Amino acid sequence: MSDTVSEPMRLEALRQMRLHEMREDQTFAHFAQLACDAFAVPMAGISIVDGHHQWFLARAGIARRAAALDSSLCTNAVRLGGLLVVPDLQADPCYRAHPVGRGADGMPGVRFYAGAPLRTRSGLVLGTLCLMDTVPHPAFGPHERRLLESMARTVSVRIEANRDTGLVDPMTLMPNRTRFLVDIDTLQRGPAAVAQVVVLVELCSREYLHDMAKALGQDYADQYLVRAADRLRQAITPQRVLYRVSTTAFAFVHGSDGDEAMDAAFQRLADFFAVPFDFHGIPHTARVAMGAIRLGQVAGAAELLRALVAVTDQLRLQGRAWGFYERSGDEAQQRAFQLLAALGGALAGDDQLALHYQPRLDLRTGACVGFEALLRWNHPLLGMVPPAEFIPLAEKTALISQVTRRVLQMALAQSVRWNARGHAVDIAVNVSAVDLDQPEFVDDLLRQMARCGADPRRIEIECTESALSLHPERFRAHLRRLRAHGVRLAIDDFGTGYSNLAYLKDIPAQLVKIDRSFVSALATDARDRIIVTTLIRMARELGLRVVAEGVETPEVLELLTGWGCDEAQGYWIARPMPVEAAEEWLRNHTGRLVAGAAEAPGLRSAPDVRTATG
Ligand code: C2E
Ligand code: CA
Ligand code: CA
Repeated sequence: MSDTVSEPMRLEALRQMRLHEMREDQTFAHFAQLACDAFAVPMAGISIVDGHHQWFLARAGIARRAAALDSSLCTNAVRLGGLLVVPDLQADPCYRAHPVGRGADGMPGVRFYAGAPLRTRSGLVLGTLCLMDTVPHPAFGPHERRLLESMARTVSVRIEANRDTGLVDPMTLMPNRTRFLVDIDTLQRGPAAVAQVVVLVELCSREYLHDMAKALGQDYADQYLVRAADRLRQAITPQRVLYRVSTTAFAFVHGSDGDEAMDAAFQRLADFFAVPFDFHGIPHTARVAMGAIRLGQVAGAAELLRALVAVTDQLRLQGRAWGFYERSGDEAQQRAFQLLAALGGALAGDDQLALHYQPRLDLRTGACVGFEALLRWNHPLLGMVPPAEFIPLAEKTALISQVTRRVLQMALAQSVRWNARGHAVDIAVNVSAVDLDQPEFVDDLLRQMARCGADPRRIEIECTESALSLHPERFRAHLRRLRAHGVRLAIDDFGTGYSNLAYLKDIPAQLVKIDRSFVSALATDARDRIIVTTLIRMARELGLRVVAEGVETPEVLELLTGWGCDEAQGYWIARPMPVEAAEEWLRNHTGRLVAGAAEAPGLRSAPDVRTATG
């Protein structure tokens, strides 16, 4: 073994080199063959000796790729740290009994062995370039020894070059992600690991880079990153190693520092990057995002990098320049991702998604005029996932239109069934603003209705005012078309969105649903009373029916009735229920819930009392 490096250190360094992962290099196979030819031996190999066994990076004439350490002469050469030549094993008292001479492991009995160490620039011995023969080579002299050593040096250089190619980013010549992971792994095993801070700097958003490449060309974008990375290198303490871990992200180990010192360091970097920098005549003010984590916060290098990327993404979303990784924020992101991934599966099957129905009462007659269909997702492992959690996530992706299509499909089928049984009830379906903004939404809906034979006059669409902020004209056109087919429209969560209510006068809606945040506490909150009475008066004057949602007590129901509110919905009347329970509720409902309407029929009877205002 070499005099400077202990065996455990040698093995650790060897592990870090990840020679196993080195990509196929035909040069090594050629070298092994060349060695056979040059020395007139039938067997030659580039042999690596690690802690467990000896294995060949390349071999010629050798059957097995690996051998046990104690049946390997290369192990002896590595321990020796220098050239080992045994011209005739049988004649050598040290090697006469060596297993390799007996012919084990699928090898013929070896008589001749010569191995020259493969040594890196730093003096680390990896293994040998070795020769073997089944006959002795007594004439293996100084010339042959020099030649073998010189070939071994060439092989070593090649191995290191290959290793470096795999670990260096060719564009910036900085150590790359693989190298980062290896180094972090080593640090994590070290004694002072826990408090060390690792920082990821994303020099610009991926969109920024993408736009730049589109406008100015990929070369410009590449060069820009090289230059920006160089600036970062200047901005951090020079002796710190900067790694390129992705196209736009660079990482370094800051060392252990207190929170205040970290804040100061981040502020300094943020100030540095806030100054626009000029590249080929164009001033750039790309926003950097810097995420940090302490080494001990997560286990494993890959997990650390994932956490760093997650926190940096989050910072970017929040418009913050820097911040530390926090498990809670990360878990929320992971859950969001998990839910989205699972929602695709739920939509593909037919056993996880269902609609629950919550009744709505006419406050004049006490009759049930309809139900709001509310989506329920029962995930086999995660349990009940509330719509308030997964709908907003789905709205950020294309999944929302699948969700809406499924909800409409279920609601329309239910409407057909109820109509067939003579229940004159409407079904209100929640449709996200994103859907209403789709050009084909109305056609899709009308087609779906025609296919299942649903009566458009029994269907109501609930959507929030936010749909107006996307394409107001398209939105209005959609609503007009739906209305022309008899579909009713309700503005949901009324009072929470737009501050400008002027839109109400030319929006083709028939109903507004006052948000439950104003309704629940009506009995005790004087301000809510002012808001609700005003909303009711205004909506009625505009010819819109008013529905109050979130009615949780009889007092609130009474107040609303007194103020002339048209309809109500809420836990006091009934919670959202599976379809069987909703039918059961409908059978038992008498209208007695509403004061003064006790004698009224439980079910609204045709003709539809509401078409007058529709
Ligand atoms: P939303 O449209 O405002 O629906 C009313 C929500 O209030 C429902 O919550 C309902 O269960 C709840 N609620 C009803 N009465 C009361 C009450 O008296 N007190 C209280 N505290 N809450 C009451 P849910 O079912 O959890 O739905 C939440 C939101 O998820 C809905 O708010 C709606 O925005 C969305 N959502 C539900 N189903 C669908 C769907 O099929 N498609 C879309 N796009 N969104 C849906
Ligand atoms: Ca709703
Ligand atoms: Ca609502």
